[in-house]
Amino acid sequence: MAKKINYVYFFGGKKADGKAEMKGLLGGKGANLAEMVNIGLPVPSGFTITTEVCTYYYQNNKKYPKELKNQLLKALGKVENHMGAGFGDSSNPLLLSVRSGARASMPGMMDTILNLGLNDETVKGLIDKTNNPRFAYDSYRRFVQMYGDVVLGLKPVDKHDEDPFEVILENKKKKNGFNLDTELSADHLKELVEEFKTAIKEKTGHDFPSDPMDQLWGAIGAVFGSWMNERAIVYRKLNSIPAEWGTAVNIQSMVFGNMGEDSGTGVAFTRDAATGENVFYGEYLFNAQGEDVVAGTRTPHPILELKKDNPKIYKQLDEIRSVLEKHYKEMMDIEFTIQQGKLWMLQCRVGKRTGFAAIKMAVDMVKEKLISREDAILRIEPNQLNQLLRPIFDPAEKSKAISNGKLLAKGLNAGPGAASGKVALSAQDAEEMAAKGDPVILVRIETSPEDIKGMNASEGILTARGGMTSHAALVARQMGKVCVAGCGALKINYQSRTIGVEGKNIVVKEGEYISIDGSTGEVIEGKLETKPSEVIQVLISKTLKPKHSSVYKTYESLMNWADDIRTMKVRTNADQPDQASNAISFGAEGIGLCRTEHMFFGGDRIQSVRKMIVSDTIEERKAALSELLPLQREDFEGIFTAMNGYPVTIRTLDPPLHEFLPHSNKEISELAGQLGISAEKLKAKIESMHEFNPMLGFRGCRLGVVYPEITEMQARAIIEAAVNVAKKGIKVKPEIMIPLVGHVKEFELQEDIVRRVAKEVMKEKGKKIDYLVGTMIELPRAALTADEIAERAEFFSFGTNDLTQTTFGLSRDDAGKFLPLYVQQEILPSDPFESIDQIGVGQLVEIGTAKGRSTRPKLKVGICGEHGGEPSSVEFCYRAGLDYVSCSPFRVPIARLAAARAVLNELKKDKSGSKKKKKKSSKKKK
Ligand code: ADP
Ligand code: MG
Ligand code: MG
Repeated sequence: MAKKINYVYFFGGKKADGKAEMKGLLGGKGANLAEMVNIGLPVPSGFTITTEVCTYYYQNNKKYPKELKNQLLKALGKVENHMGAGFGDSSNPLLLSVRSGARASMPGMMDTILNLGLNDETVKGLIDKTNNPRFAYDSYRRFVQMYGDVVLGLKPVDKHDEDPFEVILENKKKKNGFNLDTELSADHLKELVEEFKTAIKEKTGHDFPSDPMDQLWGAIGAVFGSWMNERAIVYRKLNSIPAEWGTAVNIQSMVFGNMGEDSGTGVAFTRDAATGENVFYGEYLFNAQGEDVVAGTRTPHPILELKKDNPKIYKQLDEIRSVLEKHYKEMMDIEFTIQQGKLWMLQCRVGKRTGFAAIKMAVDMVKEKLISREDAILRIEPNQLNQLLRPIFDPAEKSKAISNGKLLAKGLNAGPGAASGKVALSAQDAEEMAAKGDPVILVRIETSPEDIKGMNASEGILTARGGMTSHAALVARQMGKVCVAGCGALKINYQSRTIGVEGKNIVVKEGEYISIDGSTGEVIEGKLETKPSEVIQVLISKTLKPKHSSVYKTYESLMNWADDIRTMKVRTNADQPDQASNAISFGAEGIGLCRTEHMFFGGDRIQSVRKMIVSDTIEERKAALSELLPLQREDFEGIFTAMNGYPVTIRTLDPPLHEFLPHSNKEISELAGQLGISAEKLKAKIESMHEFNPMLGFRGCRLGVVYPEITEMQARAIIEAAVNVAKKGIKVKPEIMIPLVGHVKEFELQEDIVRRVAKEVMKEKGKKIDYLVGTMIELPRAALTADEIAERAEFFSFGTNDLTQTTFGLSRDDAGKFLPLYVQQEILPSDPFESIDQIGVGQLVEIGTAKGRSTRPKLKVGICGEHGGEPSSVEFCYRAGLDYVSCSPFRVPIARLAAARAVLNELKKDKSGSKKKKKKSSKKKK
């Protein structure tokens, strides 16, 4: 005989058939209702029809398995016994709620139906039982209304259409001169029931089902039917929920929160979901049914008031709060109803929370010995740390501004945090306005390297074009600035010095205040107060003592635990001493990428750089380079000193040289004057340097191969600085990195120069230091020939920004026209410049690492692309066996946490892998 399948799981009394682990079969709501019964909480009895029935229903032409009916009747009988009432019994009726419940909570599914089982007979029983005809008829009319809407489909057809039941209800009130529903008497409500039923008959051609059993099967069918409605399908697609999962149906005896002033209903979180504080947090209403609290028709009271209003119930609830937390070891979200002084639990699930709260709760729960450090780390999404690090807008002020229509537009949340300031439309204006002491938001169509100083002077950066890895976004993150990028609705007009907004009649002038939220992408008109994060006050501005900040202490505990667990190092991308020391405060263990050219825009040195570039002869070039040498040396001394013994990877010159040349006529004639040549000649020179495809052009080590004197100067600046700093007793570990190598020969040529110059300098200065020479792997050919390159290179650093460009054969700067669409249409799972393309680009990382270590087993390997601070990419790097990741300073804590999670997630995989293996082998033995 075939094994009997259970399609129906009873819950109630002291023992349920199901439990929390059975979410797949019972749905989230059903599994947790069962669990609450099992841990002794008061739950109205009921039963769950499993998700397997849903699957069966769709595989069998919308029919139910034949065993279902008997199983359902049996469970219903048990519920009747428990509650001491009969379904359809006109003297003592049992009423039910019918609730959908998928594995994951899902909007788009059927709304809950309450008070099912009422008809003209049973309503009389309800009146006798409660002695309250008004309550009975109000329940009845609510039931007919819900059933008519949800099961029979009597709802507004579009947004202009009116709800047919509301029309009838309003007419009734108008006719009697009432304003409120509560003014309707029992007789009015009784009339409404009839009028509702008439409307249903007119619209559907069918009578409203009066047999409770028919009502029940109708509702069950509607729940299963809603699994395939359009909204649910769209939601599943967006959230990759498989259609095979199906939904369960929960059928539960009703309890009533609207039976007078000793009844009520509420929702609550076991801790504050916004701040994470360990306080009870929620709302309730007296004399109300469930939906009234969330519907917003009446203003609910904070849960703490219940302590005064009904201390007995509050005490019970508070006990339940602690039972739930001890049992689930999580912050839970609960729904409850009080019927005539008796408390009933209707739902519980793990509560949603802000990033801030997630971190606080996880750390607190470790300290309360509820969970382990590992659990805490696995519970926090690394990006949630942003909420601890960045300034934020006062939440109340922000929502006030938005409801006052101040939201201008939304762009990409490219640099998290909040900033308010005066609009500056050029980098120069930004600098000037900031010099006067005003907070500034730099607003540009897009930014370029020459805007660096203005960006640095601004609180925040807003661009109309460009993606998450555009110049603006990249630099903003490195500087720790707030940034909203790619805000396409903005019409920035440099001539009229104004910003307009598409589809809105608003103009913001230069000098007026705007506010940008880089965590959400919102751009808001006017000034909003911001609060600096306490972690920043402790670590960066050092205006707060660690012991005075509980937020900082939470952060510190979490970071210490992460550091204990992780094995991969975290470095930072920094070009200046101040960035470097910020990064150390955030826990960086070295610099993974110092872009020498970023310093070229500081002070007046751009002039020397330009002279060097437009030189016609080697003598001229050397003269210009010798102007640059002391400046670069000074920068490196600052960085080596700030890094105090940590390794510092310095990349030799990388970008195409014309990026540094002037564009405006004014600047060109200025430079021509300094060089003593005519503006025409200079213009011709600049034009001759034009490239069709600069990304693949004259850049990277190709510059040093053609102009070895540039590499010589840079090597000299680095080694001289290192020796000078070492002489002061500070440890130095320079790692000189050659960019864009595609062939080992290129590397050899550059390495020879570096080693020769280093030897010379050390001899001149009479002091030896250790240094490494290595390369970036950012071309597919370099990854494929990594074994050859590693014979000479002492370390690899994957430059995954360029490696992504060259692997995909696309230019990031030109990708704005198609890449967003690729992501939107899911041609690519995500932007490969944000999260590393593990299958393609990642494969080259794996190949490069393996081949490199085949000829140099101890080869140090890291990553310095923007991916180094993106959590899923960090986890990939750990699996690929990298020694470190390097990312912008403000992402260092995120990378540290991600690196710890990488270790734990791999351990988890191993464990479940070995479990599966065990299961398999034990089966074999049988
Ligand atoms: P959702 O999935 O939208 O939260 P629920 O199934 O939780 O829907 O139902 C919504 C509300 O209906 C609940 O919060 C509760 O107030 C009320 N409700 C559901 N079942 C019952 C019941 N058996 N007795 C009383 N109220 C109920
Ligand atoms: Mg609910
Ligand atoms: Mg590169």
